[in-house]
Amino acid sequence: MPEPVDLIITNISRCATLRGAKRPRTGAELERLSIVKGAAIAVRHGRIVAVGKARSVSRKVRPKQIIDAGGRFAAPGFVDPHTHIVFAASREHEFDMRVRGKSYVEITRAGGGIHNSVRMLRKATRRALQSQAMPRLDRMLSHGTTTAEVKSGYGLTLRDEIKMLEVIRNLGRRHPVDLVPTFLGAHEIPREYRRKKNRYIELLINEMLPRVASRRLAEFCDIFTEAHVYNIKDSRRILTAARDLGFKLKLHADEIKAMGGAELAGELGAVSADHLVMVSPRGIRAMAKGGVIPVLLPATSFALGAKAYAPARKMIEAGLPVALATDCNPGTSMTENMQFVLSIACTQLRMTPAEALTAATINAAYAIGRGDRVGSLDIGKAADIVLYDAPDERYIPYHMGVNHAACVLKNGKAHGVPYAGHTLL
Ligand SMILES: [Zn+2]
Repeated sequence: MPEPVDLIITNISRCATLRGAKRPRTGAELERLSIVKGAAIAVRHGRIVAVGKARSVSRKVRPKQIIDAGGRFAAPGFVDPHTHIVFAASREHEFDMRVRGKSYVEITRAGGGIHNSVRMLRKATRRALQSQAMPRLDRMLSHGTTTAEVKSGYGLTLRDEIKMLEVIRNLGRRHPVDLVPTFLGAHEIPREYRRKKNRYIELLINEMLPRVASRRLAEFCDIFTEAHVYNIKDSRRILTAARDLGFKLKLHADEIKAMGGAELAGELGAVSADHLVMVSPRGIRAMAKGGVIPVLLPATSFALGAKAYAPARKMIEAGLPVALATDCNPGTSMTENMQFVLSIACTQLRMTPAEALTAATINAAYAIGRGDRVGSLDIGKAADIVLYDAPDERYIPYHMGVNHAACVLKNGKAHGVPYAGHTLL
């Protein structure tokens, strides 16, 4: 007896299922996309109930609705594991300054950078923040992202950090993209604490973290570990306090200088260490030992016009489960587009298109604690599926800077991109 299902997607010429071991992918596994040619996917209650050769899937199910993929390439929805999409104002004037030769640290010292976003965010209402973030989420979804992590960190007061986290929670409830909230109260040292950093660290540890924990407003605690903000000792102190309160840990590590952020991530058993442009060989070994996922953000190096990119190949060779993210933020990476991140990962990090797709789906899902629910097209997982106007995974980063997603399904519901409006290949 065929099983009743809500939906079947048929006529998929090539389906990258990313099925495999129930853990992040390392080494040669990064290239194994578990391709099914001539595939179909059946969905019930937003979850995948069958995936495989079209003939065998359609024999097993009786669908209420059929989507003809028109011979398109299908892959899991992207998981974007590092974003700052809640902010109050764009910063294109700083982009202009940077293009004229000013450095990130110089712009920050001149009152720009994160301080600029902090000033604007403190003035903004919840409603304004929410309505500004909505179109960013729409753009993410229309480019194929179905789950994303979002950080606080532009408030830097108890009140404003809570405000940001409440906005993130509301956005997650209202928007189809699933959001994973991260507390980043240690994103910067607020201006008013510049000469009394320890007082701010005490505020973080004694007031902010306990309040965020008791209200369950964030799953992760993150920190900007860098010479001009939080050194290793500060970071260890804050992250240890967070871990004791039940937060999972992330670090912005070794972006500007190799200062031991990756080593600390390994020592504390952080879920991920992010950026890692300058990571040392010791840092790489420490991450491998501590089971840390390196989340690489090549769009940031690109947007900064930097020469240096994270040493992805060294990390892959060391057995690390590399993941990719946009780092979408108004200062250093103004993009919601994971397809574009794949292009930069291929050309600058020398990752293959298959490795980049794995890094942006299943490994990215593990980087935010969602590897059991999303990131691959497997039975029991969310029906988060992208149909691309592309013949295969190589075409997406190759034909760069444009959106190839023809249809994005989140929990089995088609969203965002007008499916019928695209030409068949
Ligand atoms: Zn960041």
